Amino acid sequence: MGHKVTLISGDGIGPEVTQAARRCIDATGVKIEWEEVIAGQLALEKFGDLLPESVLESIWKNKVALKGPMVTPIGTGFRSVNVAIRQALDLYACVRPLKSYTGVRSHYKDIDLVIIRENSEDLYAGIEFEEGKPETKMLISEIEKYSKKSIRQDSGISIKPISKFASERIVRFAFQYALKYNRKKVTCVQKANIMKFTDGLFLKIAREVAKEYEGRVAFDEALVDNMSMQLVQKPHNYDCLVLPNLYGDILSDLCAGLVGGLGVAPGANIGDELAVFEAVHGSAPKYTGQNKINPTAMILSGVLMLRYLKESKAADDLENAVKEVLAEGVSVTYDLKPHRDDPSAVGTREMADAIIKKLR
Ligand code: NAD
Repeated sequence: MGHKVTLISGDGIGPEVTQAARRCIDATGVKIEWEEVIAGQLALEKFGDLLPESVLESIWKNKVALKGPMVTPIGTGFRSVNVAIRQALDLYACVRPLKSYTGVRSHYKDIDLVIIRENSEDLYAGIEFEEGKPETKMLISEIEKYSKKSIRQDSGISIKPISKFASERIVRFAFQYALKYNRKKVTCVQKANIMKFTDGLFLKIAREVAKEYEGRVAFDEALVDNMSMQLVQKPHNYDCLVLPNLYGDILSDLCAGLVGGLGVAPGANIGDELAVFEAVHGSAPKYTGQNKINPTAMILSGVLMLRYLKESKAADDLENAVKEVLAEGVSVTYDLKPHRDDPSAVGTREMADAIIKKLR
């Protein structure tokens, strides 16, 4: 029997990379019935809603989705649709494997890291109070009363909740992931020396959970600032990183940089029953409709999806086809060429065609 999968094209370059990934996944021979739904800018124009209920219903029904990136305005405007989907469906684990592939230029070789980012709380909870609003002023005076510390009256406030429940859930997920995929070590990354009651709680829980896995998976810990330097200097010392939401987001991009950029960094948002697969990169608006952008990250997100669907052979075949095309370096997009203006670079569609050819 085939699988039913929700497909969300997304904004900007989203439709181009999701179509490329869809064609590659179909070419593996796995039978997938795609259910296309609209979210983001297009849904706003068509239905007056960035995230129509029908999108969440479709994912609930099919249990699995492949999703393109969606725009979030910076500083002002609406909140992230991407974060809203993760929160509404309780996709609490964001998994981002970052691997070196031959043919992708980077400062390092043989990197094989996995970021496991808590996806449901922290400063991404969206609990914010705008500067100057009466409720913000009331909140400031309440906090001052309880903390005995002063806050400038012209402050905006963002709340950072970190719970025992969500910390235990994500750390356990990281250890289970390590066992399942034969990884050797989990590193808990935080800033517990400064934020004792939030990051400190995350670390305390991580240490407790780690004891249950002693002798099977190694455990260590690092402060996020030091970790940023360690990753740049000695990325091979690390294996799986488990982090609260914000640090996970930032270090994902840093690690994408270690393996050659956002064009090759896939991802998955996983809950107990549902999963949504998407690349680490965003909607890269300046490249919209140009058939230029690298589809690899989205195709590799499709590989993760095939593994989740227990289609291991198809997943291996597709990953190997991607590897071959990257290693040859011929039918690849501009960002994978030695020079960005290389006239031999192919478009998004043509790179997907080359990958499909390898599957035949
Ligand atoms: P971005 O990832 O869209 O692009 C930044 C730059 O990275 C691009 O200009 C391009 O040079 C490069 N890049 C990205 N994807 C690439 C690819 N596939 N191939 C080659 N190069 C690639 O980041 P941004 O410009 O900060 O964000 C644009 C929009 O995307 C924003 O609205 C942001 O909120 C949103 N965003 C969405 C998601 C998501 O949907 N999960 C994630 C990140 C950003």
